[in-house]
Amino acid sequence: MSDVNASVSELNPPSSVTKFAVCTFCGCVCDDIEVHTEGDRITKAKNACSLGEAHFKFHNAERHYPDALIDGKEATVEEAVEVAADILYNANMPLVYGLSNVTCETTRAAVGLAEMIGGVIDSHTSL
Ligand code: SF4
Repeated sequence: MSDVNASVSELNPPSSVTKFAVCTFCGCVCDDIEVHTEGDRITKAKNACSLGEAHFKFHNAERHYPDALIDGKEATVEEAVEVAADILYNANMPLVYGLSNVTCETTRAAVGLAEMIGGVIDSHTSL
């Protein structure tokens, strides 16, 4: 059972070092990252490449975007799914691309989608 009365300093220790952290930004999945934190911020990601370091240092839980956009305008997820389905249905060779920093379940769903729409799949690790 978690301690709901834990103080902020207990939840966010002043500084810490976590060894053997895993970077999920690209398909290399480096597992020798040493993550340094101060409070609730990551200050250093030793052993990470420049992409991995940016991933650790600048990735946070703040919301920067609405749940969905259509042509740059806020939309509901349902509206966005409808538009995306139309685009994919009318595409000749759709590319399902990206997949950095996603779960195995998301990758599985993306592969299933690529198969369903007769497309291809790739990630930025091929760049
Ligand atoms: S982004 Fe860099 S550190 Fe992260 S998994 Fe890929 S190669 Fe490793």
